[in-house]
Amino acid sequence: MKFFLSLLFSCLFGQLAVAQTVPAKSTPVTKPTKPITPAAVDSLQVEYVRTQPDAELWLQPGDRLQVRVKARTGLKVSLWNQHPLQELPAAQNKGQAGLYVGNYVIQPGDKLANLNVPVLVDDTTDVYPYTVFSTSSKVTLLNPAQALYGFTQSKNAYMNYGLGEDRLGGAKMGFLDSLVRVQINGKVGRDYRIRLSNTLNAYIPVQQVRLEATPSTYTGESLTSSWSVSGDSARGKYDYVRVAVGQRLPYTSYMDVDPARIIVDIYGAVSNTNWMTLHRTLREVKNVQYQQIASDVYRVIIDLKHPQAWGYSVGYQGTSLVVKVKRQPPKLKLKHLTIAIDAGHGGTSTGATGKTGIPEKDITLKISLLLQKELQKKGATVLMTRTTDSTFDTSERVRMLKKTLPDLLVSIHVNSAGRPEVKGTSTYYRHLAFRPLSQALYEEVLKLDLKEFGNIGGFNFALNAPTEFPNALVETAFASNPEDEQRLINPQFQEDMAKQIRKGVERFLKETRKRK
Ligand SMILES: [Zn+2]
Repeated sequence: MKFFLSLLFSCLFGQLAVAQTVPAKSTPVTKPTKPITPAAVDSLQVEYVRTQPDAELWLQPGDRLQVRVKARTGLKVSLWNQHPLQELPAAQNKGQAGLYVGNYVIQPGDKLANLNVPVLVDDTTDVYPYTVFSTSSKVTLLNPAQALYGFTQSKNAYMNYGLGEDRLGGAKMGFLDSLVRVQINGKVGRDYRIRLSNTLNAYIPVQQVRLEATPSTYTGESLTSSWSVSGDSARGKYDYVRVAVGQRLPYTSYMDVDPARIIVDIYGAVSNTNWMTLHRTLREVKNVQYQQIASDVYRVIIDLKHPQAWGYSVGYQGTSLVVKVKRQPPKLKLKHLTIAIDAGHGGTSTGATGKTGIPEKDITLKISLLLQKELQKKGATVLMTRTTDSTFDTSERVRMLKKTLPDLLVSIHVNSAGRPEVKGTSTYYRHLAFRPLSQALYEEVLKLDLKEFGNIGGFNFALNAPTEFPNALVETAFASNPEDEQRLINPQFQEDMAKQIRKGVERFLKETRKRK
């Protein structure tokens, strides 16, 4: 293997994907033994030679380098002249012949630095020698003995489970504080793959990580120490769980229900926690404990006093991990609370449009302004993400909300579907602990005699992502359905919708009071 790699890469490659014709397969010489004519290349009908995914790749031993070639049917195609690619039966490729696929498992000792990988294509006639193409994107092989580390650059560095993409972006695993040291064990295009534990990786955008200048043998694994668990003064809004970790290690977290809990997993931490001090100032944190759930995963478990969680955030103070736990507001009435309303879209983001051409951004703003009045009438303090037709990026909205920290957030949108017959109302949540808010909203909005589209969970929408406060998205109705649209643009319906959303929030508060 190494022979071929060094031979091919040092002698022939290092250029971008260019078809090159080389001499007979067995002898590593540089002069062609037969004349090369363009016809040889043309007759192969090579459309593309790609890695899968077709992006810059950093791989380590054990990873698979997958390659796809589209060319004429019946050829002999191989990766590095050693690993044959198989032509898929046409039936497995939408009836098209000539798709060759294969992969190579990276072995320890394989070396490759930012190069296009050679793929050999042979027409099997022996009239022409084989022709070498190279993948359109470059591949680098990492040496695990010299691990790469980096630091997160901002407080909003997010991790994804995988590389999936749709209109909502990849499924998010969670956010990291700044200056968290992460081990990079791969790269796919614009994302680094980072190692969380022996069994768990995550993906993080390249621009969110600053690489350490040189590879390091310093792993950053760390022993935890004692905890301090305390709260604000009686009138304050938060309790704090402080865990001395020794370094800013990566973590993931979530809220569990029944019982209401906050779980934080710290990767690379090993327990040396010999005590935890709980102070009398605590109002929301009932109990704390930890589990070493794997040799490299330390789990922080925080039991809450109330069945309804009001949110939390995780970050570092120095090298102590701090879980800031929002206390349930003592008075669950609108007049004691700050409610945030997010009018979907705005400015250049017009959102959905139906037959009438009235954009979603106008409808969401009207309903939001009416809802603002509804809530203010009941004495609530209302926070609006926008009150005019202005452009306001969703990530900017999230940043603003994480700064202002309302007690609760409702985001308002208008739905759209490819099929015009699809109609109805729906509400959405991302975190299970916040489902009750979305359910209460759903119950009240349905009273407008809209069709049930559903209460939808795990929704990977930016404004459902914050863990700091209960939040829900209301997709009022479908702009793409003529009947729904007629209602959406009707001022009376907009007023009714605002009223029902206000009632939904009140219903959530009432039900939460009862759950105490
Ligand atoms: Zn929308």
